[in-house]
Amino acid sequence: MVTATRAQPRERGGPLGVAVLGSTGSIGRSTLDVIEASAGRFSTWLLAAHRSTSALLEQARRMRPAWVVVVDEQAAADVDPRSLPAGTRLAVGPEALDDLVRNPAIDRVVSAIVGAAGLRSTWAAVEAGKAVALANKETLVMAGPLVMALAARCGATILPVDSEHSAVHQALCSGQHADVKRIVLTASGGPFRTKPREALATVTPAEALAHPTWSMGPKITIDSATMMNKALEIIEARWLFDMPAEKIAVLVHPQSIVHSMVEFVDGSVIAQLSPPDMRLPIQYALTYPERTEGPARKFDFTRPMTLEFEPPDVERFPAVRLGHEAAARGGTAGAVLNAANEAAVGRFLAGGLRFTDIAEACARVLDEHPFEAEPTLDEILRLDSWARQEVATWSGC
Ligand code: NAD
Ligand code: MG
Repeated sequence: MVTATRAQPRERGGPLGVAVLGSTGSIGRSTLDVIEASAGRFSTWLLAAHRSTSALLEQARRMRPAWVVVVDEQAAADVDPRSLPAGTRLAVGPEALDDLVRNPAIDRVVSAIVGAAGLRSTWAAVEAGKAVALANKETLVMAGPLVMALAARCGATILPVDSEHSAVHQALCSGQHADVKRIVLTASGGPFRTKPREALATVTPAEALAHPTWSMGPKITIDSATMMNKALEIIEARWLFDMPAEKIAVLVHPQSIVHSMVEFVDGSVIAQLSPPDMRLPIQYALTYPERTEGPARKFDFTRPMTLEFEPPDVERFPAVRLGHEAAARGGTAGAVLNAANEAAVGRFLAGGLRFTDIAEACARVLDEHPFEAEPTLDEILRLDSWARQEVATWSGC
């Protein structure tokens, strides 16, 4: 279960200060929509991005944060401080971000940097006891037990932004942890849901980037196409909800309306439904335990709606199996799978690997890695580098 599900009260009265890590990305931009529509409940205190400085400056002029952080030092060199709005200061580099994220002016941290790069600032936020709205699933995939223990120790709350985990969080409120039979994570199936196995080897990055129901950043879009995203989400659920891997199932649901379900021992299945729009889980993570009006799309029940469900085809999408395996093994397995996948996705997008090589490379690296059951953060980071190196030199089966 999420360690602490009670949101912090409005500490100082007035708007709650929000730090948006990865503000120029898909989740980051949706977060700013939620803040703008919050009628003064939230205000932006910090915006951080990697290299996209012009988008970041535009956001700064729109949101008027106290700080903007450019993590990439070279990109920051191009920023003219005179282009910042009055009252906004510029900081540069990952250490500056780690420091600022601890600032007492921040009540909510939205962790929306993509990939393993999101771990360190999320760690800093958790260590500072913040209420963290967690989109960066990689944090839990890599270091779930360490991060959850840190949250418990430091009094941080971690609320999921991932739509499936947000749905599970809501469904779990219907019963007790001990009475959960299983968590059912839904998956859209991605653009290749019905593609025959032989055709998958030759799909192009452009085809893999065309997601049928969600508009997301490129990395998670490729992960949806391979279903590695579901693998990462199995591991995320394993640690976030303290649920053994065998109690986490995956169900393909092409409409992306039922965001996930929880089945209890009496046979009741509780689901959360809404149109596919990340602004809703972002808002839920920011306002919990309250609910407010918001900008997310709503159902029109005057129109017919069909919901379909089918089991995943793990022969065509072997990544799902890897997710279960890594969730069951724990230890360093999640970090290695995540790093291997990030490197493989990078090579696929650059034209250096076939689509089907992504899961193959991940399986090989996961099998061959020197498994450690209770790693430290340093050991995790060392194996993250090792796994990337292995994939960089992997030449296929
Ligand atoms: P994106 O690629 O659209 O945006 C990534 C953001 O991270 C950008 O602001 C970028 O500047 C920043 N960034 C990248 N590398 C960085 C680095 N080294 N240091 C600091 N900042 C860096 O990604 P996204 O789709 O918004 O996804 C963000 C996270 O949310 C991912 O972990 C993803 O798995 C998760 N998530 C996304 C969605 C979605 O709908 N997009 C849904 C669920 C979960
Ligand atoms: Mg998801």
